Amino acid sequence: MHIGIDLGGTKIEIAALDASGAIIHRARVPTPAGDYRGTLATVARLVEEVERALGRAEGIGIGTPGSISRRTGRLRNSNSTCLNDKDVSGDLASLMGRKISIANDANCFALSEASDGAGQGASVVFGVILGTGVGGGLVVDGRLIDGPNGITGEWGHNPLVLGEQKGRDTPRPCYCGRKGCVETVLSGPALEADHAWQAGVASSARLSAEHIAQQAAAGEQASAATIERYARHLAQALAAVINIVDPDVIVLGGGVSNIEALYRLVPQHWRDWVFSDEVRTRLVRNRHGDSSGVRGAAWLSRQ
Ligand SMILES: [Zn+2]
Repeated sequence: MHIGIDLGGTKIEIAALDASGAIIHRARVPTPAGDYRGTLATVARLVEEVERALGRAEGIGIGTPGSISRRTGRLRNSNSTCLNDKDVSGDLASLMGRKISIANDANCFALSEASDGAGQGASVVFGVILGTGVGGGLVVDGRLIDGPNGITGEWGHNPLVLGEQKGRDTPRPCYCGRKGCVETVLSGPALEADHAWQAGVASSARLSAEHIAQQAAAGEQASAATIERYARHLAQALAAVINIVDPDVIVLGGGVSNIEALYRLVPQHWRDWVFSDEVRTRLVRNRHGDSSGVRGAAWLSRQ
């Protein structure tokens, strides 16, 4: 049995997986907001409950937003700010008396989908999160690649040049302090803002990405144009990944990955930027959905 924990800003989810990958236990509790010690104690208690019922786990892994600084060993860039600058895995290890693996939640997503998800059996899998933010992770022959800077797959803060946008404040400012990041164009909120801007609607009245996609599928023209524009920008941004990493499979996750049209449109467009006469990379939807966080975290301890 392997235990995976998805440590988020609002909830902590735990799952126990048997050797075949079946989830044999699952629980979810609210995160003690702003309380670092309380958060660690909650994780420890959840693990204890699972092990009391099912026996000792072979390994425990944690997935969380942010990444581990190579320089300090501490978490950085987490939206759960009480975790920032803390040695989360080290402190948990001392609290629980055993080794705890930790990784970025996008890396956990990539590992989950490469292990027994939509990228299963492929050699090079690039996992992409298109949600509130844009992240990614890279798995090669079953192994999660982290890199000397601990940022492998973080394509969300690469610059994306938009040649076709006129009149709008481009490049747009990003929360990271830079301008024109991929995330400012391809996050769910960016898609919604783009649609509202094109339609001349106040941002307070803007439609959800899901709603826009539904209208597009029903043939509404402005929504279809928004999805087409989004697909073209996504194709451009992913072509940069393909030109460098040349993955067999790109798996999409996060809320925007539910837009069915992307799997048809994006591969039509990315030929324009991929430096090859044909593109064999497959673009696929995730298999495990919201469970990828806990599943990938559990597989971390097998790495
Ligand atoms: Zn940025």
